[in-house]
Amino acid sequence: MCGIVAYVGERTAYPILIKGLQRLEYRGYDSAGIALLNGSTHVYKCKGKVRDLEELSKDQDISGSVGMGHTRWATHGAPNDLNAHPHRSMNGKFFVVHNGIIENYAHLRKELNNRGYRFESETDTEVLANLIENIYLEQAVSAELAVRLALTRVVGAYGLVISCEDEPGQLIAARKGSPLVIGVGENEYFLASDATPIVEYTDQVLYLKDEEVAVIRRDQLDLKNLHNDSKTPDIQKINLSIDHIDKGDYAHFMLKEIHEQAVTIRDTFRGRIAMDESKVFLGGVLDVMPQLIKAKRIIIVACGTSWHAGLVGEYLLEQYARIPVEVEYASEFRYRDPILDRDDLVIAISQSGETADTLAAVRKVRETGATILGICNVAGSSLSRETDAGVYTHAGIEIGVASTKAFTSQITVLTMLALLLGSKRQVLSSDTYRELIHELIQVPDKIEEILRSEKAIAEIAAVYQGATNALYMGRGLLFPVALEGALKLKEISYIHAEGYPAAEMKHGPIALIDEQMPVVALAANDQSYEKMVSNIQEVKARKGKVVAVVSKGDKAIRKMADHVIEIPDCHEAVSPLLAVIPLQILSYHIAVMRGCDVDQPRNLAKSVTVE
Ligand code: GLU
Repeated sequence: MCGIVAYVGERTAYPILIKGLQRLEYRGYDSAGIALLNGSTHVYKCKGKVRDLEELSKDQDISGSVGMGHTRWATHGAPNDLNAHPHRSMNGKFFVVHNGIIENYAHLRKELNNRGYRFESETDTEVLANLIENIYLEQAVSAELAVRLALTRVVGAYGLVISCEDEPGQLIAARKGSPLVIGVGENEYFLASDATPIVEYTDQVLYLKDEEVAVIRRDQLDLKNLHNDSKTPDIQKINLSIDHIDKGDYAHFMLKEIHEQAVTIRDTFRGRIAMDESKVFLGGVLDVMPQLIKAKRIIIVACGTSWHAGLVGEYLLEQYARIPVEVEYASEFRYRDPILDRDDLVIAISQSGETADTLAAVRKVRETGATILGICNVAGSSLSRETDAGVYTHAGIEIGVASTKAFTSQITVLTMLALLLGSKRQVLSSDTYRELIHELIQVPDKIEEILRSEKAIAEIAAVYQGATNALYMGRGLLFPVALEGALKLKEISYIHAEGYPAAEMKHGPIALIDEQMPVVALAANDQSYEKMVSNIQEVKARKGKVVAVVSKGDKAIRKMADHVIEIPDCHEAVSPLLAVIPLQILSYHIAVMRGCDVDQPRNLAKSVTVE
């Protein structure tokens, strides 16, 4: 949530900030703002998108080689000009951009009110700006010390960039919970919420850790923790190129990412499957292999689309590794008193590796002694640092707010993990092991085949673009795919949609069926096929409209359904990877036809770093 970008160096900061904000806009787009430091500080900010900010600042003074920018995803206060960042402290000494939530802001605001502070905005961020200034002026300390002292009083999450009028040429950055990356150049530093604004300038980066504070001048970076202990910066090379963050010829990032899935799934299993297809290797789990093999139970914690991938993982791990699995919403799990011990394995899944609730769940598990495995897409993310072991999905940066390729890569990892554990635990025959590896390797080509039917799927989208509701149903491994299909439709087209296990329809949702209700039925050639045929008949008997996703060559359902979308025949273990593709395409085209902003759907933001 929210994008921060900042620059200290010798170049003009403005174009770097604007371009950086455009790259980060997928993280939040309620408002945008910049502060340019050039003797005095000029702030330009407004409700709306980065292009509105560009328009606003077009004929203004945009000089200065130090500056910061922000695209907001509002938590406290409506998206408007006043609440947009950067925020200025009351006496103009400090400017702040912030990602996260200051949870005790009301208490701090009251305290500052009593000391004569007045506020322009409704945000928690302005409270922090004033708290820092109050400490700075009253205690006559350096800006850096004022920041550290203020942060020891803050409860909540922050990624921050701060400037002080009395200490020009310098920015202070701090993080707890919300990511910040520092790009290291020649006589210049770049700061951002993720590496996308940085890659075109440098591949040397430093990921700020929780409770670290960096004081940055163009020729110097000092790193310490909140308690003033110096830290040695761990500068790493990042493996992200500019092509990864460009839409190319696609109209939207989401469409590009849907089309990338044949490649990204290959990237996920590349180097992890033996040439003779006999074995899976997951280097990231080697250190904890003994604990994985003897795990009595697996708990998967995740949110949103990753939670759906977790449900697919539940079926696969139970079926092929014979370990009982529970899948939990991280946001609920973290506030319970879960019963866990050293024999449990917890798998945390998050695309960004920064999802606040998933990280909090991981920290909760840490106290219990259970082994924690992370599955995430972003190298160096908090999840990758805070787990005992992990597997990167290698899907490449995902920019579309509605997750697509991250989902299929997560399932690919879970499939490989289930097979690996099944084999190590000697509950999976070598024939099935080989057969399923072979099936997985075939998936990218089969996805290419589905992508070739995009036009036909778009024609179905045209029929249902006016729908106000939709139901999705599936069984077994395709039930989580039904949930994911419904989520995609809700997220980007704002049509109310729900996913159900098909047999549950009779326990309530079937009452909703009438001529107006589209039902997307997932009925691949698997063990629940016959049951799905009956469930589709039940919908048709009530005049519902059925869009069925079926295996190639299906005859029975074609006779009943209003529309069919074929997917290539496959083993049911890999069917989620294929069945979800038409659902992504369907949602995408419905959303485009409805005129929705597919890459930046309302109220949403990528990477949910607040609870
Ligand atoms: N809590 C701050 C606000 O509402 C920051 C939100 C964000 O991360 O964009 O302005």
